[in-house]
Amino acid sequence: MAANAVTHSTLTLDSSAQFVRGVGPARAALLAQLGVGTVRHLIEYFPFRHEHRPQSKAIGSLVLEEIATVVGEIRRLKVSGLPNRKIVQATVIDGTGQCTVRWFNAAYVADELRGGDIIRLSGKVDAFNDRACFTNPKWSKIDPSQADLLANDVDEFEPIYSATAELPSRAIAKMIRTALESVGDQLGEFLPQAIRTKHRFPARPEAILRFHHPSSKQEISASKRRLAYEEFFLLQLAVQFSRTRRASRDRALKIPISPEVDRRIRRRIPFALTKGQERAVSEIASDLARDVPMNRLLQADVGAGKTAVAVYAALAAIANKTQVALVAPTEILVRQHFEKVQHYLRGSRVRMACLLGATSKSERSATLRALQRGELDWVIGTHALFESDVSFQRLALVLIDEQHKFGVAQRAALRTRSSDKTLVPHTLVLTATPIPRTLAMTVFGDLDVSTIGGLPPGRQPITTRLVTSDLHAKAWEFVRSHLARGEQAYVVYPLVEESENLELKSATDEAKRLARDELAGFEVGLLHGRMKAAEKAAVMENFRHGKLRVLVATTVIEVGVDVPNATMMIVRHAERYGLSQLHQLRGRIGRGSKRSYCLLFAETREGAAAERLKVLCETSDGFRIAEEDMRLRGPGELLSTRQHGMPEFKVANLAEDFPLLEQARDDAARILHEDPNLRANASRELYKELVRKFGRRFSLVDVS
Ligand code: ADP
Ligand code: MG
Repeated sequence: MAANAVTHSTLTLDSSAQFVRGVGPARAALLAQLGVGTVRHLIEYFPFRHEHRPQSKAIGSLVLEEIATVVGEIRRLKVSGLPNRKIVQATVIDGTGQCTVRWFNAAYVADELRGGDIIRLSGKVDAFNDRACFTNPKWSKIDPSQADLLANDVDEFEPIYSATAELPSRAIAKMIRTALESVGDQLGEFLPQAIRTKHRFPARPEAILRFHHPSSKQEISASKRRLAYEEFFLLQLAVQFSRTRRASRDRALKIPISPEVDRRIRRRIPFALTKGQERAVSEIASDLARDVPMNRLLQADVGAGKTAVAVYAALAAIANKTQVALVAPTEILVRQHFEKVQHYLRGSRVRMACLLGATSKSERSATLRALQRGELDWVIGTHALFESDVSFQRLALVLIDEQHKFGVAQRAALRTRSSDKTLVPHTLVLTATPIPRTLAMTVFGDLDVSTIGGLPPGRQPITTRLVTSDLHAKAWEFVRSHLARGEQAYVVYPLVEESENLELKSATDEAKRLARDELAGFEVGLLHGRMKAAEKAAVMENFRHGKLRVLVATTVIEVGVDVPNATMMIVRHAERYGLSQLHQLRGRIGRGSKRSYCLLFAETREGAAAERLKVLCETSDGFRIAEEDMRLRGPGELLSTRQHGMPEFKVANLAEDFPLLEQARDDAARILHEDPNLRANASRELYKELVRKFGRRFSLVDVS
């Protein structure tokens, strides 16, 4: 059957949206730009809000300042004003009184309306010449033949869809309405009855229908709640389902930690662990003792000391004669970890190596051979470690630092690299960014989470100030006085991708200018993303050892860089950063025992950007900042969620719907507890929907 022979009656949810009556290929192409390909997509293209037009009232009873709707007949329509600033003014009457309507800069209104037309007006009531008046109201003409429309006048909620110039919201609404007319009866229910009853959710077809075309606020909120829940629930189910499956299928090497091993490890760490670190260590230790692979996320505020916890786990694995791989996102971080760990392990027999993109061929193949033969205990590297020729004799633990730069796929890449392919290493992911709980549950929902609260003792708080242009000179003077005492400073420049060259130039100029001008007499270095790895490492090295006193950095200074003597950070154009990003940056200072200062250079103290920055001046709690950031900019900006493969929610809102997410998580756990393979009759539709939506992403399809 030719494609265009698909008829109205054969339309299904999986048909292409172009076959919906009134759509066709041209509009289908426009829909495709919105991510809508099938009829199902179209029906699940939900409005982001509803425009409320309240039931109309009598003109004679209008009250000043209220939002109201009236229906009446147009009298005396006139156009006045200058040719390019026309005012259309009309009088509208119903049986109870009259009001004025004025439209500014909307001469077209006069072409569409004439005296005697019946119109419906909505807007705020103000006064003009002592008479009730609507200024630039929403309006629509009413066909006089639809007289009963007036009689049954009700509240109206127009769905507002995210639209394009070629495909306005109203056109989308019409297509969805048409689609629902023909396939509405195919919308099935997949939530188990028990859940629907418990939460008093409307049935799925009803929820979908009502969310597109509600007739009351209650209908909007009830259908929205159900649809948001559904998104959370399916994702939680997928995540937990794949996790239990993994746990029953994958085996790991046990890493038991005897009191003797524990003592030996602690002797290597040059400080006593904080309470928070201890808790994380014991959570990790109990995971490692089992033959089920650990999948744990270690999150903590910047500087809380994740590295020490990771080192503990690594040494435990090595004590059990297994191998460890630590992956960090940049060469600078790899080198820093390597140096630090070597320092901890001075005089021990632990055999370590580094693997970088820059590692020479011969050195690389020697390292690979040693890893394969089990002659190395611990390898630290960049993503070079993910390459397929890297294999191990007995890899038991993978540590991934500053996870947000790695995707989920990469996390999986190191899973089976031991000679025994049935073994899966324990995995510990360290995140640099504190993540709001909602986001952690969705993005990292397949991981257990350990959180280190609090900071190591003796930390000086960081003083953060917003510095407007009139105070820049004073700020530099302050910086100079601290440099003179032997302290060090970062000067950070934002790098905007579109104008990278320009920014690079300004950072380079800035470094030169500072060296010559504001910071004359102090060694100023420059670090940017275009430099070769070796150059970057050399600059970092010089800064770490104090040869460079000031570091001007274009890109984000590598997360995780640890130079305790750096006590100042100046951020130029601070308003261009997200809060969490600034908090991360700020974490580069305040690492030693001296008081540290973060100076956020911004244009003004007024406006939304400055308001945002003030949050940073008020708190140093990364979790609170992350919540705030998510509220202000949405979860997508907080992490590069696309990298994480985080699904985009159509209805649910991570910043607002936390209780719903928790319920969905608990419900999913309960269902899987009762029916681990979702084989019960009551779960049939649910399982189908789960596979349809997440089968590929969570490789659920091959469930036996
Ligand atoms: P992050 O969690 O940001 O990766 P790091 O592991 O780099 O933090 O630790 C930050 C700094 O705190 C390091 O200089 C580290 O040596 C130090 N540190 C970590 N834990 C402790 C502790 N328990 N006592 C004292 N200093 C600590
Ligand atoms: Mg770190």
